[in-house]
Amino acid sequence: MPFFTSTLLRPQTLFQSQPQSKTLISLLLPLLYRCPISSSTSPMASSSSSEATLREVLAEKQAAVEAQAEAVRTLKARPGTPQSEIDSAVESLKGLKLEVAAVAKRLQAEGSANGEGGTGGLSKDAFRQTVVNTLERRLFFIPSFKIYRGVAGLYDYGPPGCAVKSNVLAFWRQHFVLEENMLEVDCPCVTPEVVLKASGHVDKFTDLMVKDEKTGTCYRADHLLKDYCKEKLEKDLTLAPAKVAELNHVIAVLDDLSAEELGAKLKEYGITAPDTKNPLSDPYPFNLMFQTSIGPTGLSTGYMRPETAQGIFVNFKDLYYYNGNKLPFAAAQIGQAFRNEISPRQGLLRVREFTLAEIEHFVDPDDKSHPKFHDVAKLEFLMFPREDQLTGKSARKIVLGEAVSKGTINNETLGYFIGRVFLFLTHLGINKERLRFRQHLPNEMAHYAADCWDAEIESSFGWIECVGIADRSAYDLRAHTDKSGVPLVAHEKFSEPREVEKLVITPSKKDLGLAFKGSQKMVVEALEAMPEKEALELKATLESKGEAEFLVCTLGKTVTITKNMVSISMEKKKEHQRVFTPSVIEPSFGIGRIIYCLYEHSFYTRPSKSEGEQLNVFRFPPIVAPIKCTVFPLVKNDQFDEVARNIARALTKAGISNIIDITGTSIGKRYARTDEIGVPFAVTVDSVATVTIRERDSKEQIRVAVDEVASVVKEVTEGQSTWADVMWRYPTHAASSDE
Ligand code: AMP
Repeated sequence: MPFFTSTLLRPQTLFQSQPQSKTLISLLLPLLYRCPISSSTSPMASSSSSEATLREVLAEKQAAVEAQAEAVRTLKARPGTPQSEIDSAVESLKGLKLEVAAVAKRLQAEGSANGEGGTGGLSKDAFRQTVVNTLERRLFFIPSFKIYRGVAGLYDYGPPGCAVKSNVLAFWRQHFVLEENMLEVDCPCVTPEVVLKASGHVDKFTDLMVKDEKTGTCYRADHLLKDYCKEKLEKDLTLAPAKVAELNHVIAVLDDLSAEELGAKLKEYGITAPDTKNPLSDPYPFNLMFQTSIGPTGLSTGYMRPETAQGIFVNFKDLYYYNGNKLPFAAAQIGQAFRNEISPRQGLLRVREFTLAEIEHFVDPDDKSHPKFHDVAKLEFLMFPREDQLTGKSARKIVLGEAVSKGTINNETLGYFIGRVFLFLTHLGINKERLRFRQHLPNEMAHYAADCWDAEIESSFGWIECVGIADRSAYDLRAHTDKSGVPLVAHEKFSEPREVEKLVITPSKKDLGLAFKGSQKMVVEALEAMPEKEALELKATLESKGEAEFLVCTLGKTVTITKNMVSISMEKKKEHQRVFTPSVIEPSFGIGRIIYCLYEHSFYTRPSKSEGEQLNVFRFPPIVAPIKCTVFPLVKNDQFDEVARNIARALTKAGISNIIDITGTSIGKRYARTDEIGVPFAVTVDSVATVTIRERDSKEQIRVAVDEVASVVKEVTEGQSTWADVMWRYPTHAASSDE
């Protein structure tokens, strides 16, 4: 029987024997090499014809798999069939299943890359509205204090939202904390003023605000200016080239504009309050921290922390000791952060309280190599280096190892974390074609930072910063050292003592006391704090002229220093160790933003059996899905209910979250309800001995013995096996005619 011969059904010969298939594959080739979506391309631009082609190929391949599976079963049942013949047919089946999986994956990618995810070319706003409606209706999130009409920028996570968040955080802990042996801490949200004064937040954590002069409504000044420029550029097609350049320039330098410059631009462009068209006030800084007082006296100012990082910095000394006084090491913290955003407008993306997951990786500033960099060096993904942004290019795929070796990314440790962040996000289900790493422009970066990159995810709101990855050099530890007087430093012990030349400044307290009386202490401190260059210049002047004028900042005046008042020399010394302030590399994850983007990237619709109706689906990977499995008796029947309860008990015992639905609703409706919250697997009890397991996206079903169900579902949800693996091991079952 030629049908059973392995050669006929090998994947490559399948195409040769089916000319229609060959044509389809050649149509598919350009899709395989699809260009990344540039920032200017609408994610909603449809390519439904390629999607239709993919669907045809998928159907054809699924039919081939079913035929070959039947062939294998017949071969196995036929007495005396040589084992080699069975093996060969099985090999062919495996190859075909792999092809099905590959096409299904391409189809999924196609759907998400278009951003329409099967919704039939909806506009960005309409797509977002569909996603948000589904999320709100299924209680992924709830506007906080809704019965009191809510508060802008505050949201609750409902049951599936909580489960998704806890899954994302569990994976974050596994991927970062466990993998790198990070030291996790959990610090209070209420933070005393001194800490945030040292970090610069009290003085500088501000946005420029303007007020509607009549109603008092507040707006972010830079947002109003940016909106104006963007709208002009998009809508006014008669703009002269010089004006276009000017508006683009304003957008580019927005972060750099002072309050006065911003105010002048708002006036020049005649920008008024968007809601009322009333005149606006001049811009002034508004501190984004929520202020509070600690204790009943009201005398001790505190703030709700705007980030979790400071809790780690202030604990550096103890953590370094805990780590055996060794560098590098990383500490991590997950917790709430609070920012009193002026006018939160982007739904779940810009909120006033959110979960941050932050890592502070402390490293020797003279050696930022990373022992595990080679694990990620070959990754290739979308990067948007500074030069490309400045020359108007788009993000492009770059190999991480090359970006580091060419100096595009400042150092290996920073590169290592960029690679790990890429793996983290894509493993969660973020589409890698809609994820890019954008380097900060010089005007965006703090003066002390060595290099910064943002992981930006494309959503219906555009490209959104979800993770910031910055080499902050020694800034934070130095700032807290200066403010607290506790040296937050590391030591490198030398195997052999090293001879070094050191500046030694010895003020003569007696002579200085006679000359400056009560001010002596301040002069002594100023002399001791002199940097090397200034000290050597003072020494030269004292030697040539016998005296010199010397500025004491704390006194606010210049004093005359004579030769007898201070001795300055360079002396050779033996040193046994080097003392230095470590650099810190900080990946900072906005968990809510990642989750929202994941919702958009996972969402698609598919037609239901009933005419014209679209069903919503979240294609969450099992690791993210809020519930991993549902259990349905096919019809209302005591025996089936009992089997369903036993399966649900076994799943719970195996640690697999599940829900059981014994309502008599049609099976199609029950599938649709759980597809809408992204449950990846559904067990349908249609007999007491074996049951079916259905995979959400392909709707493929396999038949499994009742007592094996829990272990099979555990395998596929925990990633020990793929769905394709288990499809291969168990007989397939025709999909329900009810959906
Ligand atoms: P930043 O410290 O400003 O770099 O913020 C760190 C991360 O927090 C960002 O990458 C965002 O993902 C997230 N984030 C910042 N501000 C907000 C906000 N208002 N709402 C939600 N997430 C935010």
